Amino acid sequence: MKNKNKENSDEQTFSPAEIESAKRTLIKMKKDIFKEIDAGIKEGSSKDSTEYRGDNYDIASSERDRELSYMLGDRERKKVREIDNALLKIKEGTYGVCDECGEPISKKRLKIIPYSNLCINCQSRAEEEEKKRMSEDYIDHLSTLSLMSDDETFKDSDE
Ligand SMILES: [Zn+2]
Repeated sequence: MKNKNKENSDEQTFSPAEIESAKRTLIKMKKDIFKEIDAGIKEGSSKDSTEYRGDNYDIASSERDRELSYMLGDRERKKVREIDNALLKIKEGTYGVCDECGEPISKKRLKIIPYSNLCINCQSRAEEEEKKRMSEDYIDHLSTLSLMSDDETFKDSDE
C-alpha cells in the first residue's frame, strides 16, 4: 500500500500547540507594531483618549487598528497585512500552506517568519517581480523627474 503524501504531510502537520504558539507569536508581533506607533502618537499628544489596552487584541481589524494603520509606514502596513492573513489562515486551518501554489511552507521558514504566506519558491518569485516592478516605477519616477526639471529649467530661463 502506498501513501504518497505521507512523508511530507507528517513533517508539515502542525500540532495544536504549534498552531497556538504561532498564533501567539503573530498576535504579539502585531501588537508590538501597533504599540510602537501608539507610543509615537502618545509622545506627540498626551491625550487620554489615546489610551488603550493591548490585551484584548484580536484578529478582526478594529476601528482602532484601521486608525493606527494610517500611521504605519508601507513596510509595517505590509507586515500587518501578512500577519492578519496568517491569523486568518490559522482560523481557517490552512496555516502553513502557500497562498500561491498550495504547497506546504517549510516549518523552518515559518519559525523565522511566522507570518509568511508563501513558500520559499513563490516568495522569491514574488520578490523578483516586485523588484522588476519597482525598477519600472523607478524609471517612471525618473522620467517624471526629468520632465519636471525640464519644466523648471524652462521656467527659469523664461524669467
Ligand atoms: Zn508556493
